[in-house]
Amino acid sequence: MNFLIENAKKLKICLSQKQAELLMEYKNAVLEQNRTMNLTAITDEKDFIIKHILDSLSGVPFIDKQEGKLIDVGCGGGFPSVPIAIALPNISVTAIDSTAKKVNFINNAVSKLKINNICAETARAEDLGRGQMRGTFDFATARAVANLHILLELVTPLLKIGGKFIAYKANDSETVDLHRALSVLNCKINKIVNLNLPNGDERCLIVIEKTDETPNSYPRQNSTIKNKPL
Ligand code: SAM
Repeated sequence: MNFLIENAKKLKICLSQKQAELLMEYKNAVLEQNRTMNLTAITDEKDFIIKHILDSLSGVPFIDKQEGKLIDVGCGGGFPSVPIAIALPNISVTAIDSTAKKVNFINNAVSKLKINNICAETARAEDLGRGQMRGTFDFATARAVANLHILLELVTPLLKIGGKFIAYKANDSETVDLHRALSVLNCKINKIVNLNLPNGDERCLIVIEKTDETPNSYPRQNSTIKNKPL
């Protein structure tokens, strides 16, 4: 647990003992469930702390409001959404994934651990972006879900104007040629931050700000987004 607290500090995140305990308990829940359901290929405990927990927490400093709503698109086994919810109890987190069994696992695990500021839903981002959740989030995150060209169209319709999308990437290579997508979707790159995880892995957080309403024609149908990315 000290390893987690010390390394979180290096990422400028101050975890209480209770928060660190909850993070470790969530790790145990994922690894336990992973025996019967494919949630992660990372089963070594230290690797898990680095590659799932600390990596997820690396986005926390960019959630620069005391209170607000965050959506994690393609949350899988709860990353980065669950560590963020534990680290920021005043942020209300919605974790969505198109796979119901992953969503059910998250809801059961957070309910047992009494993490009350997160709720998981089975949904596709592009459907939510055309529904009642459109334009309602202050922050969004996505890790290991799709290329940035595709993610921008899936995620930014869900943000309020001024809302920020924190994309977890290995590097900034996907920002090349992003100009058209940013312009069509009324967004701009707010900052790009490179960092190293304790094992030396390079990570890149790309923060994208929504500057105006998303045009009504976006997001398009899933097949169009994939076949004709902006
Ligand atoms: N974010 C998690 C992580 O980093 O461990 C999971 C990553 S997993 C490789 C990608 C997840 O995104 C899958 O669980 C998949 O079901 C989900 N996904 C892909 N496209 C999606 C969409 N359009 N809407 C919602 N979920 C989606």
